[in-house]
Amino acid sequence: MKNNKKIIIGSGLSGPLLAILLSNRGYDVDLYEKRSDQRVKTNNSDRSINLALSHRGIQALKSANIFDQVDPLLIPMKGRMVHLINGEVEFQPYSVNSCDYINSISRRSLNNILIDNAEQSHNVKIYFNHSLSQIDKLRNQLIFSNEKKILMSNHIFGADGTGSIIRKYIDSNTNTPSRSDPLGHNYKELNIAASKNGDFQLEPNALHIWPREGFMLIALPNMDKSFTCTLFLNKKGKVSFEALKDSNLVVDFFNKYFSDVLPLLDNFPQNFFANPNGKLGTIYSDNWQYNNQFCLIGDAAHAIVPFFGQGMNASFEDCEILMKVIDENQGNWNKVFQKYNQIRKPDGDAIAQMAIENYLEMRDLVIKKNFLQEKEISNILWENFPNRFIPRYNMVSFTSIPYSEIYKRGKIQKEILEKINIHNPDYKLAEKLINKKLAPIK
Ligand code: FAD
Repeated sequence: MKNNKKIIIGSGLSGPLLAILLSNRGYDVDLYEKRSDQRVKTNNSDRSINLALSHRGIQALKSANIFDQVDPLLIPMKGRMVHLINGEVEFQPYSVNSCDYINSISRRSLNNILIDNAEQSHNVKIYFNHSLSQIDKLRNQLIFSNEKKILMSNHIFGADGTGSIIRKYIDSNTNTPSRSDPLGHNYKELNIAASKNGDFQLEPNALHIWPREGFMLIALPNMDKSFTCTLFLNKKGKVSFEALKDSNLVVDFFNKYFSDVLPLLDNFPQNFFANPNGKLGTIYSDNWQYNNQFCLIGDAAHAIVPFFGQGMNASFEDCEILMKVIDENQGNWNKVFQKYNQIRKPDGDAIAQMAIENYLEMRDLVIKKNFLQEKEISNILWENFPNRFIPRYNMVSFTSIPYSEIYKRGKIQKEILEKINIHNPDYKLAEKLINKKLAPIK
């Protein structure tokens, strides 16, 4: 199968899934990863960092026949547990359907399963400690920082994340290079350990949010009964990471805004200073493929801010959609890359925009009466028009409706809610508008 060899750069979340799916179709795959093999544990000091896995990601894992291995590691989160500043707590279910929930999973465990399965699939060879540094077009070579040089194959996939070298190479060869749009906020991860009795210290089946309008703290549960907390905060300004210069200021800040979490935080405030500040932003790229030879998947194509919990889910869905296009266009790789770019790019733009909008929803709107009222009326309309009106969060998290279609429908739904007056809804008008403006969902 020499002619069929595919090269993938990046063995994070999407690279190994793509490798498995290509291998299942008979292709030989060489997968290059800059880090060492994370399955070989050198110490136990790694914090548990988790992610929310939902419908799209699950579907893609099922298509690779590995969801059964992932399933036991999932902790269902059935809604948002909103912690108000006065100490009151309010549970907001994600859905009226009890089967609709998102799931917390350890990034490392999921990555290990993906790498294990890629490795076991025989057609895949993984090369760790190989950081792609350069693409030499003249000599047709990929050059790695360990000085290894390999001949380029016909098809090279960039699954190398936000700082993708493959995307930068594509950028240097087109008139429409990608654009990066940093968010004004950074993030920092903290930890709530299990209690002395070995129990969760917060309700485990929820995504916890402490919305404070301009910023927020969230917490997702881990299998070891700990929680990973993430603080999203302005980089600069009066209330910002920059302003939190010393331990006293950090403790005062948590006392003022997150007093119920403060006693639960592990090794605090030391961890606040020990853990790095992460950057957030969006990458907009028009060219998800170049020259019918290079193709981008996952964050390399569309890094987004994490507020819809969709970055990984969208990356996994990229792999599934790419496979669909491959299956439909057997052998015609030029068509495959172009079709994939054409289908998927509008979806990438749509989820990028919705993820930015969801930051406002999580950090601010979830405590507003209007938002809750709108949610209630949306659910009533959904119950009455299940094929036409589905709340946007639910379409994104619990269906495979293309993100671009969801974005359009979401706008129409918002207009309908505005027109019918959510405080005294005119359901006759709602029916008329829904039937006129929202086609049934296939
Ligand atoms: P990555 O997982 O970043 O993998 C890229 C891989 O490429 C890495 O292994 C890297 O080492 C390797 N690499 C990079 N450069 C090179 C090189 N030059 N040569 C060789 N290898 C290279 N998504 C969700 O769906 N749900 C969530 O709840 C969620 N929460 C998030 C919370 C935070 C704080 C952040 C920052 C993101 C979150 N995401 C979430 C997004 C998710 O992490 C990403 O979308 C996902 O990791 C993308 O997968 P990927 O394979 O494209 O990139």
